[in-house]
Amino acid sequence: TRRVQEALEAWQPPARLPVTLGERSYDIVVGDGLLQRAGALLAPVLPARRVVVVTDGTVAPLHLPALRVGLEEAGFATLAEIAVPPGEASKDFSALQSVLERMLAAGADRRTAVIALGGGVVGDLAGFAAAVALRGLPFVQVPTTLLAQVDSSVGGKTGVNLALGKNLVGAFHQPRIVLADTATLRTLPPRELRAGYAEVAKHGLLSGETLWRWCEGNGAALVAGDAAAQAHAVLESCRLKAAVVAGDEREESAEGGRALLNLGHTFGHALEAECGYGGTLLHGEAVGVGLGLAASLSARLGQCSQELPGRVISHLQACGMPARIRDLPRTFSTAALMGRMRKDKKVRDGNLRFVLLRGPGEAYTAGDVPPAMVESLLRDEGC
Ligand code: NAD
Ligand code: MG
Repeated sequence: TRRVQEALEAWQPPARLPVTLGERSYDIVVGDGLLQRAGALLAPVLPARRVVVVTDGTVAPLHLPALRVGLEEAGFATLAEIAVPPGEASKDFSALQSVLERMLAAGADRRTAVIALGGGVVGDLAGFAAAVALRGLPFVQVPTTLLAQVDSSVGGKTGVNLALGKNLVGAFHQPRIVLADTATLRTLPPRELRAGYAEVAKHGLLSGETLWRWCEGNGAALVAGDAAAQAHAVLESCRLKAAVVAGDEREESAEGGRALLNLGHTFGHALEAECGYGGTLLHGEAVGVGLGLAASLSARLGQCSQELPGRVISHLQACGMPARIRDLPRTFSTAALMGRMRKDKKVRDGNLRFVLLRGPGEAYTAGDVPPAMVESLLRDEGC
């Protein structure tokens, strides 16, 4: 009874956050235990009480039962439950084809919604399937990783990978609603939780001193499993991302807007690509190291205080994350990383583009960073 009492005292009503995109506007709902109430939350925003659920083989046994309860309770018919193998390999054309064929064979029509229950892989794959099936079905995100709750489920980017590279085929397809049930994070492996936290720290740095200081004070508790801290981080991350997306839905602004969400990602993508996408280095881990490098580069360029890189690095390390190249279990060559960065989607006219910081809340895009400066930073970092 004491635990029940504590649970009741800790219980917070779900929070709702609007993403303002004209007729494509939608809400992000953040709370504990949303899966069991999913039907009631979805009914007002969907054209019919008919859905297909796309998930993966790890998430299905853990969280599909609760979602089923929530859907049945509100009289939803689930035409198909489609579980793809867990992992990045499922974000490809063969998985897409199989999802499309199974949902259409099950009778999905234009009023049938596609629900993505899982991490970013399932969200991107199911969202793209929803974007192209019958030229567009209503879509719902039910993210179950921290990364998906704070990042990939919001903003409408969907897609799959090619052998040539990640996310090279896709569509903007906004969901009708996002249900971020923080209870699902309790089953997430700690390493995945920490990796997702890198994007929270990124949002903290982009947002300003308030959220960044909150991260410094609460990040370690969050990655240790503190549910209240997780809920706050999801809400504040989504607030930041929703505001950015509302101003630049399709990433058309070269300088500001969605491009700023790539803080730490030019370095991060290069490290990730060097490791291959087999899970040796998770995206969030690469982004964490990338945040440290972006802050260091900003300081070397005299753009931010000399203290900021140390603050970023020691915060991530305090959360149990790699924050410097030397924290990673392998070595990298400067030439190889430079080569990867020159191939980055953001490169224009041969100049390296980085999102840099003047301080927390003051990110900007620099298109003219001298390659020699980046090279010497990487070398000093032990490459
Ligand atoms: P993921 O979907 O592969 O999930 C990570 C692992 O956790 C998987 O093995 C999954 O089965 C497991 N899992 C998921 N939820 C769980 C839970 N509650 N309990 C236990 N296990 C659980 O990876 P991710 O990190 O969530 O997402 C990465 C993907 O997201 C990448 O493909 C990336 O390109 C994409 N992404 C997209 C956007 C966007 O805007 N669309 C943004 C960032 C990342
Ligand atoms: Mg990212």
